[in-house]
Amino acid sequence: MPRTTAVAAGEEEPNKVAVVTGGSRGIGRAIVERFLADGYDVSYCYRARPESAGEVERLAEKHGRRLFEASVDVTDAEAMSQFLTATASRLGPASVLVTNAGIVRDAPLATMSGNDWHDVIDTNLTGTYNACRAMIFPLIKQHGGAIVNISSVSGIHGNATQTNYAASKAGIIGFTKSLAKEVARFGIRANVVAPGLVSTDMTQGMSDKVRARVLGQIPLGRAGTAAEVADAVAFLASDRAAYITGQVLQVDGGISN
Ligand code: NAP
Repeated sequence: MPRTTAVAAGEEEPNKVAVVTGGSRGIGRAIVERFLADGYDVSYCYRARPESAGEVERLAEKHGRRLFEASVDVTDAEAMSQFLTATASRLGPASVLVTNAGIVRDAPLATMSGNDWHDVIDTNLTGTYNACRAMIFPLIKQHGGAIVNISSVSGIHGNATQTNYAASKAGIIGFTKSLAKEVARFGIRANVVAPGLVSTDMTQGMSDKVRARVLGQIPLGRAGTAAEVADAVAFLASDRAAYITGQVLQVDGGISN
């Protein structure tokens, strides 16, 4: 059910509006919180509203920002388009889009089911297309904006048991680099953030053995936090990155070095 949290109006300056897909948990949630702290009104979607959503609403109130949230499956192009239209009518035109919604369905290729392949490609890659496709006309019309798509180091280097996930995340990089070239003349930037190991629900299922092996490969010696990824996203979305487009920023503790 869509919900808007209205708060007292702040100073009379044009509202900055950011849209985040998969903003209910993990990295997406940290990005929502980062934008609220940075003075954005924020619209985010998820599949199932978590019980902790009230905390984000309280945070929006604390920062004097407006929040719009809705259950939208990113694989549904029509629902995504309606979500972005609803966002614009509730909060005003958005200038920032972060496509963060993502899933894993890890398995060796020899046993990977067609569903595991399609679910991951549909959510991670087609979901990114759906959100960017629905957002691009409004951004072109307002002649400016920033898109940050969330990939993964798996999409750059590959990872055993993640052929589906790595393909989706590599696809996001090619997609974003092409989009960056296509829309630069409209003042729109498009970049990628590629996290390494980050402690969220997504990585909770890792066995102790695999986690220890991965941690052993990270020069900084620890997993990243969702807030650290959100900081990189906020930078690329901001005017401080005004001359950066088509780039992949790895937030991975040095594992890719
Ligand atoms: P997470 O904790 O599992 O959260 C995933 C988020 O995506 C949730 O908000 C979830 O909503 C949403 N989502 C999933 N499928 C969706 C769909 N079809 N429609 C709408 N929303 C959907 O994952 P995370 O670790 O924060 O990962 C966030 C992004 O970072 C993903 O793209 C992931 O691939 C990428 N990443 C993560 C890591 C890591 O180590 N964690 C590393 C590299 C890249 P619900 O709560 O409703 O399910």
